Amino acid sequence: MKIGIPRALLYYRFDTLWRTFFQELGFETVLSPVTDKTILDEGSRYSIDENCLSSKLFFGHIAVLEGKCDAVFVPRIANYGKEGIMCTRFEALYDTAVNTFRDKDLKFITCDVDLQEKKTEEAAFTSLGIELGCSREKSLGAYRAAKTADRNSQEKKIRYQEQQLEKEGIKILIVGHSYNLHDEYIGRPIIKNLYNLNAIPLLADAVDLDWARREYTAICKDVPWMVNRELVGAIHQYRDKIDGLILLTAFPCGPDSMLNEMIIRRVKGLPILNLLLDSQDGNAGIETRLESFVDIIRFRKEAHI
Ligand code: SF4
Repeated sequence: MKIGIPRALLYYRFDTLWRTFFQELGFETVLSPVTDKTILDEGSRYSIDENCLSSKLFFGHIAVLEGKCDAVFVPRIANYGKEGIMCTRFEALYDTAVNTFRDKDLKFITCDVDLQEKKTEEAAFTSLGIELGCSREKSLGAYRAAKTADRNSQEKKIRYQEQQLEKEGIKILIVGHSYNLHDEYIGRPIIKNLYNLNAIPLLADAVDLDWARREYTAICKDVPWMVNRELVGAIHQYRDKIDGLILLTAFPCGPDSMLNEMIIRRVKGLPILNLLLDSQDGNAGIETRLESFVDIIRFRKEAHI
């Protein structure tokens, strides 16, 4: 059985976990290609206008998996208990995908993570393995191996970021969801652009996430969403080591629009650029804004010498 994984949304957080889990169980995984204009257009065609850009991309990635796999993996993730809730889109994603592609040659598999209802991640993946015909023992073993691989992968990201931090130059923390930061079509061009402007981009998802979820309250106390807690925690970790902040948001995002307002009000003394990405944006406008932002930081630094 070939399992399709859309290269979008939570794939960028759980890529190692998901792929290792299926590989440990002996299944082949097929990843959709990197985002391009065709995938974005397809995603927009299958989405309602109110969907955020990131979820439009997700539907485009499902569409390109048609005919390439036996089933597409779309987990339902509601919350991680006291660690916080997920955006409601992740809870609805499986049902929306099944409904949207009901006339297509696409099957879906899912698992249900909802700690408030006592459905842990471990239980969710173990049940999925059993549904796919594996024993409980093998499924649990696959999940545990995947979890270890996931931790190692996050530690590698953190080590790389620590090396970046050691370098001389203008350092800018980009605060955005992993699926926006790392998408080749929407986030990566921004990272590349900063390098071209001789700035050093740091990424808010390359931190100790457990630490970030504990310490985010130093900036904002009431943040219900787990991932936004981590993003605010990352700002707290880096605020004294960076020269500027970029808030990278996909339009229209409820959690980010609330949080960004709070961040702008509470993080004083750092230049902040608020970048809102939508499907209409060309890169030229963004490049100009990044250039001006880096210039402002450079002038500020020179003025303080
Ligand atoms: S958090 Fe924002 S960008 Fe992410 S899926 Fe929800 S609405 Fe979209």
